[in-house]
Amino acid sequence: MEKKDINWGELGFGYMPTDYRFVSNWKNGAWDDGALITDPNIVISECAGVLQYAQTVFEGLKAYTTEDGRIVCFRPDLNADRLEASCKRLQMPVFPKERFIEAVREVVKSNAAFVPPFGSGATLYLRPYMFGSDAVIGVKPATEYQFRILCTPVGPYFKGGVKPLTVRISDLDRAAPRGTGNIKAGLNYAMSLYNIVDAHNCGFDENIYLDPGTRTKIEETGGANIIFVTKDNKVVTPKSDSILPSITRRSLLQVAADYCGLEVEEREIELAEIGEFAECGLCGTAAVISPVGKIVDHGKEICLPAGMTEMGPVTKKLYDTLTGIQMGRIPAPEGWIVEIM
Ligand SMILES: *Cc1c(COP(=O)(O)O)cnc(C)c1O
Repeated sequence: MEKKDINWGELGFGYMPTDYRFVSNWKNGAWDDGALITDPNIVISECAGVLQYAQTVFEGLKAYTTEDGRIVCFRPDLNADRLEASCKRLQMPVFPKERFIEAVREVVKSNAAFVPPFGSGATLYLRPYMFGSDAVIGVKPATEYQFRILCTPVGPYFKGGVKPLTVRISDLDRAAPRGTGNIKAGLNYAMSLYNIVDAHNCGFDENIYLDPGTRTKIEETGGANIIFVTKDNKVVTPKSDSILPSITRRSLLQVAADYCGLEVEEREIELAEIGEFAECGLCGTAAVISPVGKIVDHGKEICLPAGMTEMGPVTKKLYDTLTGIQMGRIPAPEGWIVEIM
């Protein structure tokens, strides 16, 4: 298979239409067979549920080329599980897990020419998503839905080297207590856009959100979970019902315990204690871990000892181990790597 003529190293994190996308429609209470199609455009009712009441959920995962030339995906079963939880919360039908994984395979295989070569640092980003597609004017769930998986090649996250981030403690909340913070819904992002643009205008890379109930505990950023490392090398991550369960974060904690022999802990983390940590990182599929160098709480600067020029030593060890597993250099736990071709 001949690769597309793309300057892989120069790619950013943007959308580029590829040759095929998977589409399946839910109508009269059942999913159709689904198919790979070439048209990147969608025609739906002007009154579609997704357009009026934001009935839409999504996922994100990557396919990449390993050192020995295979194309693989990382833990797509967990994306299927999480999509199921998101769908149930927004009163949408569930797309069966086996079919989800099969559709991921088909999309990657049919777009193999867009999967960046090993060593480029680039990857093929997959975006499964579902939305209410028929007309809804009174507030109620749609009766027809579309499930799709699109893919697009994306560039290396740390182009030109790792730069630790400066983040601020946000005055706005991303979730409500007992709300939808723990599902991957478009609505959680719509309401974060004002705040991220404002953060950038104020010179910050990200917003750290506090627990919406008491605003005293750390939750996550707009699109990534947070891990901290204590001065005695324990890996700690916030526990809360309104955090999105990041697959990267869950994998990193297992790697910390089973591969690095580190103690790990999921517990409530007070805003007041963050000055005591040695390292901090944001985790998600896009970057795996982005190190945080500085947290600003209303003018009070908390500078992490790991500094503003490189990843802290524990963060780096976790990053190297997980990316090593993903790239096939380090043996993976059972089921983590799904070979596509
Ligand atoms: C998708 C997402 C993450 C990261 O999850 P991964 O499964 O690791 O990619 C973290 N926080 C939020 C709010 C998200 O939407």
